[in-house]
Amino acid sequence: MQLSSSVSEVHNVGKQRLLYLNKMDIFTVEDLIEHFPREYDDRSDVKTVSDLVPNQINTFIGTIDGNSDIMRIKNMVITRVKVTDGTIAINCVWYNQPYLKNTFKSGQKYIFTGKYQHNYGKKQVISPEYELLEKGELLSGGRITPVYSITTGISQKIFRALIKDTLEKTKNQLIDFIPKSVRMENKLCDRNFAVLNIHFPEDDDSFFIARRRLVFEELFVLQTSLLKMKASVNQGKTGLVIENTDAEKEIIKAIGFKLTNAQKKVIDEIKADFASGKVMNRLVQGDVGSGKTAVALITAFISIKEGFQSALMAPTEVLAKQHYYSFKSVFEQFGIKVVFLSGTMKKKEKTEALNAIEDGNAQMIIGTHAVIQKGVAFKRLGFVITDEQHRFGVNQRIMLSQKGDNPHVLVMTATPIPRTLALILYGDLDISIIDELPPGRQEIETRAVSTSYHKRIYTFIKKEIDKGRQAYVVCPSIEESEKRETEAVIEYAQKLMDNEFKNYKVAVLHGKMKNDEKQIVMEDFSKGSIDVLVSTTVIEVGVNVPNATIMLIENSEMFGLSQLHQLRGRVGRGSQQSYCILVSDSKNKVTVERMKVMQKTSDGFVISETDLKLRGPGEFFGTRQHGLPMLKIANLYKDIDILKEAQVAAAKIIEKDSDFKLDENSLLREKIQLFFKNSEIGI
Ligand code: ADP
Ligand code: MG
Repeated sequence: MQLSSSVSEVHNVGKQRLLYLNKMDIFTVEDLIEHFPREYDDRSDVKTVSDLVPNQINTFIGTIDGNSDIMRIKNMVITRVKVTDGTIAINCVWYNQPYLKNTFKSGQKYIFTGKYQHNYGKKQVISPEYELLEKGELLSGGRITPVYSITTGISQKIFRALIKDTLEKTKNQLIDFIPKSVRMENKLCDRNFAVLNIHFPEDDDSFFIARRRLVFEELFVLQTSLLKMKASVNQGKTGLVIENTDAEKEIIKAIGFKLTNAQKKVIDEIKADFASGKVMNRLVQGDVGSGKTAVALITAFISIKEGFQSALMAPTEVLAKQHYYSFKSVFEQFGIKVVFLSGTMKKKEKTEALNAIEDGNAQMIIGTHAVIQKGVAFKRLGFVITDEQHRFGVNQRIMLSQKGDNPHVLVMTATPIPRTLALILYGDLDISIIDELPPGRQEIETRAVSTSYHKRIYTFIKKEIDKGRQAYVVCPSIEESEKRETEAVIEYAQKLMDNEFKNYKVAVLHGKMKNDEKQIVMEDFSKGSIDVLVSTTVIEVGVNVPNATIMLIENSEMFGLSQLHQLRGRVGRGSQQSYCILVSDSKNKVTVERMKVMQKTSDGFVISETDLKLRGPGEFFGTRQHGLPMLKIANLYKDIDILKEAQVAAAKIIEKDSDFKLDENSLLREKIQLFFKNSEIGI
């Protein structure tokens, strides 16, 4: 079997299973064995039947004693098997799997793992996993057992068997793309050993050695790519010089509030970059509500006053429109022409906008990622801003800096990450931090409650609305599909309108709505003619309606901490006391912990650090969170030491051979090319 073969060649993969595997992004044999376990069950402690611990998961070995029984209770088929190991006998039961009757034969020896239930005098093991004890190595029982993230339709047991079989048939075929010198210097084990032992560790030591190697490899590719990107983006470029004048004084007057010191500091840093003769590549981190928009507005104004066009790009159309209106209302007073651009505009409007951008009539361009598409030609682009950077990918960041004549680039994000990490991950950017909120903000009161509180919550919301306030309700569906999510929102809103909120104005907002429909709803909400906005997470980023003071989040267990923090950031934007209500019935430990953190703190940095700790490898720095590629195995919180080592190694490579021309770097070069496959950076 070849690593590059289709996964359909794997034993026991038929048509249906192939579909499931494809759904998990597994297409080749190599993809399959590089689908690493999410976690491990320690089943190495094998008990005798007489020692099973009640109401816990136990692993034990036993012999099937007699034939299986089949019982029918209501709609259920129960299969019961008697198992003994010479100490005592016990029953194992399975629900609705009648075929099991033919699986177990009297006298066969199995290893089982399952919950031993002690209820109402009945003692039995419920739906245990089982594996026939034959000669040869065990997949699950009696050892550290891998647990995978898999799609429904494939069981852990089956998936484990697929992996095991494939590993055996592809022994020693993996080639090592980490240059030998790096491997030696960092004491990394062989790649074949690593992959084998990450799935089925021989013992604890082998596991740690294997994991360290795979984490290193992942972070090493990431770091090398980022450094390569930095090198190519800034290589020998001179920046447009945007002189510092007093221009901003006028605009600050027009905004109507006094800048915070943090805002002033960041604006000064940007002005220094403008005047430096180098190309600016700067990241502004500021918690939700810290006033990043004002920084963008003032610095864009400075660049326009010096004769350069400025562009602002937002991840959603709703957010882009909001920026468009607020920039327009200020800039128009100065005779500056603001133009909107999105992919869904009517042809005629779009052509008009494109023409205005090309002939220089448009001075401030605001839109979605349509702004960086190929057909957009600028007359004299000097400054590009990306809002909510975490929604854009690394590649889009690169595309931006390749527009026009090396414009200055500012990216803004509300996802604060610990500074040490930021320095490494955004190694290609300078960093500014807005570490202060505008004055007069009140702490948002946050409560986590169960669904039994609904009546009380609704009464409370109505009271607030009667005082003139507005509320958001975010309700994700339990299933992760856009269709279900849309239905969930519509059903929820209907229920409110039919019952508790009969006499109030309730509206819905979801991703399936047309852009102009969304726009109308947002404008109505903004004007105050909607009381309750029931929505999917489309409102997650950036939306600013200061009169909204309640954020009710249903099924809040569905969200990570950073996302909850973003959602909560939609309220508390004005001077009124605001509230965030998190509803969940989940008893899951991590969920309970998340809710506690949300109630305790509103500090984005604390929240992101905790998020990093609570989430498993890979999840936190997913593409959606930070515009970085999904990490499969590394955990940037736990693995910061390995990250540092990988960075040192990456820096050495780039310094010595930045185009990967040396023989020993040729395989690495392919990996890096893969990283940049959708961008214009050529390697
Ligand atoms: P974010 O950083 O989340 O993008 P915004 O730029 O949307 O935050 O600002 C949040 C709110 O705070 C807006 O209503 C804005 O007008 C207001 N604001 C920003 N800066 C100040 C300031 N210095 N003083 C008072 N209000 C401010
Ligand atoms: Mg914002």
